[in-house]
Amino acid sequence: MNVYSAVKNSITTRQAAEFYGLTVNRNGMCKCPFHKDKNPSMKVDKRFHCFGCQADGDVIEFTSRLFGFSRKAAAMKLASDFGIRYNGRVSHISTGRRPISEEEKTEHQAAYFFRKLSDYRNHLIDWETEYAPVNPSDDFHPRFVEALKNLTQVENDLDILLSDDLNSKRMLISELMLKEKEVKSMNETDLVPVYYESPVYAREHKEIEKFRESHFENVNCRRAIEESISRHFDGMRLNKQAIDEVLEKYGAERVALVLAATVQIKSWDGRFSPANKDWAFTVRMPNTQSAMNYDRRDAYAVTSHPAVLDGFISHARKMIQEKEHSSIRDELKNPVMQPVKTALKHDSLER
Ligand SMILES: [Zn+2]
Repeated sequence: MNVYSAVKNSITTRQAAEFYGLTVNRNGMCKCPFHKDKNPSMKVDKRFHCFGCQADGDVIEFTSRLFGFSRKAAAMKLASDFGIRYNGRVSHISTGRRPISEEEKTEHQAAYFFRKLSDYRNHLIDWETEYAPVNPSDDFHPRFVEALKNLTQVENDLDILLSDDLNSKRMLISELMLKEKEVKSMNETDLVPVYYESPVYAREHKEIEKFRESHFENVNCRRAIEESISRHFDGMRLNKQAIDEVLEKYGAERVALVLAATVQIKSWDGRFSPANKDWAFTVRMPNTQSAMNYDRRDAYAVTSHPAVLDGFISHARKMIQEKEHSSIRDELKNPVMQPVKTALKHDSLER
């Protein structure tokens, strides 16, 4: 049995949610980790479904989104964390050992976040002086504001992580898991590499796994774009945060690929601006040559409303360009979010 079916047959999403620190109530509801959820609006059972943001899927999808992993990495993590056998293999953690207890798990997570938050605290302390305004008329630098705003909170959190109060620790940890994506370092080495060769080539060169992983990641990226657009589009405007989120999780290269593939496939559609079409045909595409005569890119063509998507693409192009030109340091997330006017009047965006 392969790792995917082994995991899906053995672990429910509910078990995974609880294992990774979410609190699930008696009705199988928990606060959704994929949107800002005040009351539990996610049902976790064998699968999961959020009635707030419509996130939906199986236990692998859940874990993949929770940690920002590819499906494959998520499935392997689940197999390892729960000691599931697959392909005749026994994952290394399990052999003859009891599963780790709830308490141990909380302590592992607490240690992990303690390290992360300590690093962050050190940054904040530096920023407080490094970016302090020199003249009274200077605008506050966003990092200076961030330091003022977050330092006390971070120190409180560190105290909780060191305390013996298991409940507060667990609550904090699930909060931090959500925030992790936002404060996540700019380290992009955990991104799945984009694979450009054809399936035929991949098979001949024993790289079919790489091909598959990259293809599924394109599909995940497509879903993330659709989901992010639906969450950040209020009918008139698209919040720029929609783009930040997917860029951070999937990387500029893959986001560009998925967006460009969409425009290429739908290049007949007049709702995409000429500038975006020109751009789309400059983006490198995977080789789609295959024995079967169909375009695999259909699987990751974004289905959001073309006019809204066109606004998204225009902004994404700018941000991808900025990313290429800015230093790593500047990639640190700017905490000041500005809603950006976009959407239906895409022509005005091009100027
Ligand atoms: Zn949700």
